[in-house]
Amino acid sequence: MGELDEVLSSTVCRLNPQFFDRLHSEELFQIRHNLDAVLEQCEPHRSPFDVAPKLIAPGITDLVPVGNRALRKNVIATEAEVVLSPSQVRTFLGCSAKWWFKYGLHLPEPKTASLALGLAIHSALEVNFREKLQTGKDLETAGMVMIFRDAWREQVGETEFREDEDPAELGQVGEQLIVKYMQEAAPTIEPAAVELPVEGCVAGVPVRGRIDLMDVTGRVTDVKTAARRPSCVSPDYAFQLATYRQLTRGASGEARLDTLVRTKTVQLVRHDYTVSDQDLLATQVIYPLVREGMQNGLYFPNRQSMLCSRRHCAYWRQCEKEFGGTLAES
Ligand code: SF4
Repeated sequence: MGELDEVLSSTVCRLNPQFFDRLHSEELFQIRHNLDAVLEQCEPHRSPFDVAPKLIAPGITDLVPVGNRALRKNVIATEAEVVLSPSQVRTFLGCSAKWWFKYGLHLPEPKTASLALGLAIHSALEVNFREKLQTGKDLETAGMVMIFRDAWREQVGETEFREDEDPAELGQVGEQLIVKYMQEAAPTIEPAAVELPVEGCVAGVPVRGRIDLMDVTGRVTDVKTAARRPSCVSPDYAFQLATYRQLTRGASGEARLDTLVRTKTVQLVRHDYTVSDQDLLATQVIYPLVREGMQNGLYFPNRQSMLCSRRHCAYWRQCEKEFGGTLAES
């Protein structure tokens, strides 16, 4: 094996572009030539130096039919090797076909009302905690309601509401949730970092994420909205926390999940959680397995999933077209 081939076959090299800095331009062109020759055999019209395709045009799956596993493997090899995230893993384990539609083909996923409401609340609270980082004080609750209204207006324009959903009513519920959080939770939080990007490797797999809020004790805090009162921290959230524990300097492994519940009378449910050795083990095992699964290019529709229906999955049309069958309405 020649020196350049050795460089190319190095995992570190593929994951760290700085390795190429020390090579001369002739060597770089030789590498490019070799890679182009290899890729030409797999996919005649694509170079590894092309920007990863944003395959968002309707009917794109005509170009990547379900049987073309080799092409799928090729597309994913360029993306999944770069970086994974806890949400990619959650999507892949929930339904690998959905993961392919979202992260492989980049098909647009219209926002649902509950997602939009969560985003508007998240965005308003972010303003509050950024301010608190500077001043040590929360914003006035009345001002936060105004900030939420602006954020909600923005979301309404980008959201697909169902016939039985009224954006104005939902906005009012959102305002009550913000008031609840500002009165009962915000004063107890001393932020140290807001929207903190984190990245690193878990069991050799590059992983990236974003922590909503970390307080001065190193505890991670997340705020979610839900239609029902949750009874505990879900396994996928524990997986996310275990990921952050490993990637974040200063993270204590303690976490708090604040759930704002949009029942008739709005509620705030707080769960404390400590990342366990078993949680860490799960990340060490699952990240490499998921990456291998993604690169394998074999994706299945999970029609048993609780979120598999025309109401809950934005990709149901694509899914019926590719895999057959008829999805339930809800
Ligand atoms: S419709 Fe169901 S099976 Fe198809 S991608 Fe969505 S969740 Fe998966």
